[in-house]
Amino acid sequence: MTDRYAVIGNPIAHSKSPLIHAEFARQTGQDLNYTSLLAPLDAFARCVREFQAAGGKGLNVTVPFKQEAWKLATRLTPRAELAQAVNTLKFEGEAILGDNTDGAGLVRDISANLGFAIQGKRILLMGAGGAARGVILPLLEQRPALFAIANRTPARAHELARLFLPHGELCSGDYASLAGQHFDLVINATSSSLHDELPPLPDKVFASGSLAYDMMYGKGLTPFLQFAQTNGAAQLADGLGMLVEQAAESFFLWRGVRPDTRPVMAMLKSL
Ligand code: NDP
Repeated sequence: MTDRYAVIGNPIAHSKSPLIHAEFARQTGQDLNYTSLLAPLDAFARCVREFQAAGGKGLNVTVPFKQEAWKLATRLTPRAELAQAVNTLKFEGEAILGDNTDGAGLVRDISANLGFAIQGKRILLMGAGGAARGVILPLLEQRPALFAIANRTPARAHELARLFLPHGELCSGDYASLAGQHFDLVINATSSSLHDELPPLPDKVFASGSLAYDMMYGKGLTPFLQFAQTNGAAQLADGLGMLVEQAAESFFLWRGVRPDTRPVMAMLKSL
């Protein structure tokens, strides 16, 4: 029987995950069906349980349910436990395994696809929401020389720095506190690009040879990537690669097979 998977969120119509997983399944010869599931804002847990009871094998979880998914899981991977956010559920009988593949997806996109070695580099992570939480541990595991978190509401950046301190050295603050500092890798994990806005970054924040990475993706350069281009960043990337790589990591968790992400990225870019 064909195994069933889906991405669950609200809204969900825009999601590219069904297309990505259909390509992965075709490429690897896996017999699965992957759809999208719109959950009412107050009925996430019920929708998950109905999908599980109907024989579903796993779910990807997106906005705004990643923290609810973390609470619903009966077992968590260490990276999901720390992130307090789950983007992948795997059903094992009555049990629900929760994982977070966002950070692994980001690290793979930066190191394997973009050829940028993170070890020994100075990282600035902008934002302290769900996306930022999910990527801190995998980035720290690459052993950067310095890791700074900046957020519009600095208390949230301080909270994240405290939470992850046992796993590496972190500093935190608002954007003004970045004055005079340069970074090799600047990651925008805020939702500012969604509103065509830009966090108030100092213009000398990009070191020579630096990579500017916006987790947001779409047509053309985001305001952050435009700013990076005119202020000395050597390389620009949007979050499409992260999207495909986090999906590949979920696929691997479910099926034990790692798909080739490059043709899928090329296909999405051509749409
Ligand atoms: P959250 O709502 O959890 O967090 C939003 C963050 O953005 C907060 O830190 C908030 O600051 C900050 N922010 C919002 N607007 C502004 C602004 N105008 N100026 C400065 N800071 C701002 O969102 P998520 O963390 O879930 O998502 C963030 C982004 O990451 C989204 O664009 C999402 O699409 C993208 N994403 C991409 C993925 C991919 O695979 N490519 C995967 C996951 C997310 P404050 O705390 O002060 O409110």
